[in-house]
Amino acid sequence: MSARHQVRARTKMKLRKGDRVQVLSGKDRGQTGEIMRVIPATNKVIVERVNVVKKHQRQTQTRVKGGIIDKDMPMAASAVAILCSKEGGRPTRIAYRFEGTGDNVRKIRVCRHCGEEL
Ligand SMILES: [Zn+2]
Repeated sequence: MSARHQVRARTKMKLRKGDRVQVLSGKDRGQTGEIMRVIPATNKVIVERVNVVKKHQRQTQTRVKGGIIDKDMPMAASAVAILCSKEGGRPTRIAYRFEGTGDNVRKIRVCRHCGEEL
């Protein structure tokens, strides 16, 4: 196989595993799900039950059952928005708040609308 393009320097991702998000674009627009995995190298996320494709799998010694399985594919992190639980699951954007002083400053993820901790 040919070499894949190296992705530019890692971006720090705001989204984390376990975040509840809504899909903003693409065929699954409007769906919500939990982030199962974040992939900083490609700035993508895997969302549970979203962007599902049918994969044909061959039977192997370790995989007893062959056939067609559903697989959640990575999707662009920019295509999803985190949901704010305080606002009843409204999609929002992430802002940061800093608490503490000196060496004890904590960076907290908050909702850009209402300031609720995410
Ligand atoms: Zn909010």
